[in-house]
Amino acid sequence: MFTTAVAGSLPKPAWLAETHKLWPRWREEGAALQQAKLDATLVWIKAQEDAGLDVIGDGEQSRQHFVHGFLEQVDGIDFEHKVEMGIRADRYKAMVPQVVAAVRLKGRVHQAEARFLRAHTTRKIKFTLPGPMTIVDTVADRFYGNREKLALAFAELLNQEAKALQADGVDVIQFDEPAFNVYPEEVNTWGVRALERAAQGLACKTAVHICYGYGIQANIDWKKSLGDQWRQYEQVFPALARSRIDQVSLECLHSHVPPDLMALLKGKEVMVGVIDVASDEIETPETVAQTIETALRFVPANRLIACTNCGMAPMDRDVALAKIEALVKGAALARARQAARPA
Ligand code: ZN
Repeated sequence: MFTTAVAGSLPKPAWLAETHKLWPRWREEGAALQQAKLDATLVWIKAQEDAGLDVIGDGEQSRQHFVHGFLEQVDGIDFEHKVEMGIRADRYKAMVPQVVAAVRLKGRVHQAEARFLRAHTTRKIKFTLPGPMTIVDTVADRFYGNREKLALAFAELLNQEAKALQADGVDVIQFDEPAFNVYPEEVNTWGVRALERAAQGLACKTAVHICYGYGIQANIDWKKSLGDQWRQYEQVFPALARSRIDQVSLECLHSHVPPDLMALLKGKEVMVGVIDVASDEIETPETVAQTIETALRFVPANRLIACTNCGMAPMDRDVALAKIEALVKGAALARARQAARPA
């Protein structure tokens, strides 16, 4: 009951990359960089285990950004000539690479870090990949001329890598789709279909993470414009409930998402965000337990996973660690209270 996990990314140590940035510059190059990435991964494996998390990740220590880390291993992408583009319906500008030819994997994308993770923990491991729609929304397309076609092309590549990750011993493969909250109509016409193509044939657990973004200023401003009730999930959860994806990761604590929308995910395991990544204030175990108890009104206890609202890449390292500890303690508190309830 109430297993614990983080959404995905964790802060990179200052000796690996610039801190507090979404697209940080690496401190090293070549072999020294490869070693530093794995060293940082080891630090976070140990920290997550010590904190008591049930599902461990690599904290995305080996990728500069959650989307571009994947694209760097794709042929047909021009990283030499990045262009500025408004992303997530122009919420903010980013320098993005261009699709200039048919996309194809150069080889394995995350083999080194997945096998490293598997070799260094006996706990369940989760690996994250960007979802097809979010990739499409984070590149400049100069070749396909159609978002759906491009998404399906990426979905095939994601599926190749996901199957290989499963063979590496990964227990949960999660696709990150923050774009699902921005383009609900496209989600229903092709977004979920592209996601299912990416997850096709996998026997391990599959998950999708849908959020309101990292705790950066552009996202904080956007959230202020969404009003008192954030109902974006309402438009995409029914299609996800019908899909073959096993788990859905969503925002809960401090977001204005009406908690009853979780009831739309009947039959799914729900990763409930009980940790706010847009604030440095450390949650108390009591707050975490109460958030779990709110979610329990709409999600059965055996399908509820306690999680963070989103990745923690841009945060302070010590803040992220304290939040993980609060997450684990809060889940334990909620578990104890459930056990003490009269049957
Ligand atoms: Zn997120």
